[in-house]
Amino acid sequence: MDRQSRYKDFSAFLAAHFPFKVQKLSVNAGFTCPNRDGTKGYGGCTYCNNQTFNPEYCRTEKTIAVQLEEGKQFFSRKYPQMKYLAYFQAYTNTYAGLEQLVQMYEEALAVPDVVGLVIGTRPDCMPEELLDYLSELNERTFLLVEYGIESTNDVILQRINRGHTFACTQETVRRTAERGIRTGGHVIVGLPGEDGKQALLEQTKALSLLPLTTLKLHQLQLIKGTRMAYEYERNPSDFHLYSVDEYIDVVIDYVEHLRPDLVLERFISQSPKELLLAPDWGLKNHEFTARLQKRMCERDAWQGKYYI
Ligand code: SF4
Repeated sequence: MDRQSRYKDFSAFLAAHFPFKVQKLSVNAGFTCPNRDGTKGYGGCTYCNNQTFNPEYCRTEKTIAVQLEEGKQFFSRKYPQMKYLAYFQAYTNTYAGLEQLVQMYEEALAVPDVVGLVIGTRPDCMPEELLDYLSELNERTFLLVEYGIESTNDVILQRINRGHTFACTQETVRRTAERGIRTGGHVIVGLPGEDGKQALLEQTKALSLLPLTTLKLHQLQLIKGTRMAYEYERNPSDFHLYSVDEYIDVVIDYVEHLRPDLVLERFISQSPKELLLAPDWGLKNHEFTARLQKRMCERDAWQGKYYI
């Protein structure tokens, strides 16, 4: 088995959909978050950086179309044939009235060479009327709705002040996938209270049962100015921050227990260096992936090897 085929890779997934190269372009549409303004909760998730939650930054002067055009310019010099997916990434990208949301998504889709949308949001922020519209949208373009799941354990979700339960995630992921919409999930590995390998393997079982198309994993990062950073200073023994090598083996154990057809998009996140407290790996995504694939070969590991 070669390195690349050891897990279901996101670029191969895109290549199966599009006969051309596709790049995600992040868009900041100026959304806020219901877990901060009291609609779902106050204070936000404990790992989320309050400093980046800056209304000036959110209320960006640039329209969605301008942001996408600028992103296109960056890539098109090197890859003139490239097409794009508009990635509504920052904050909660379904947190507005239906009319406003439709206008924003349609503005992105009207930009030449934008061939689809990726919409990141919280599982408690997906009303039926929006799903009605997204089902129709899904018929005419590529659509992926990505939910912040973060953990499958309600005690941990409460501890990090997520403001929703795993039952909420299960229900929303099912409602979305039932409409035929590609549904993605995002989880953080190493949250406080996550009790070692067994807990993560329980998580792989719960996630594999959901009708998810894609999954992103991220290592826990402590970001300056967050409530979690404060908790860490007070009680560092409550946290286990992985070294790169340790994390690679944890990810491999995890992937070996996942449903084999789940598309794996990412394994790490990279916060800006000036905001990152720990762990400082200094690794780019492709460098991590290369090390992961090498280690998978050494261990003769593959996705779903132990999936039951
Ligand atoms: S992580 Fe997302 S849901 Fe949580 S407080 Fe930050 S913006 Fe809101």
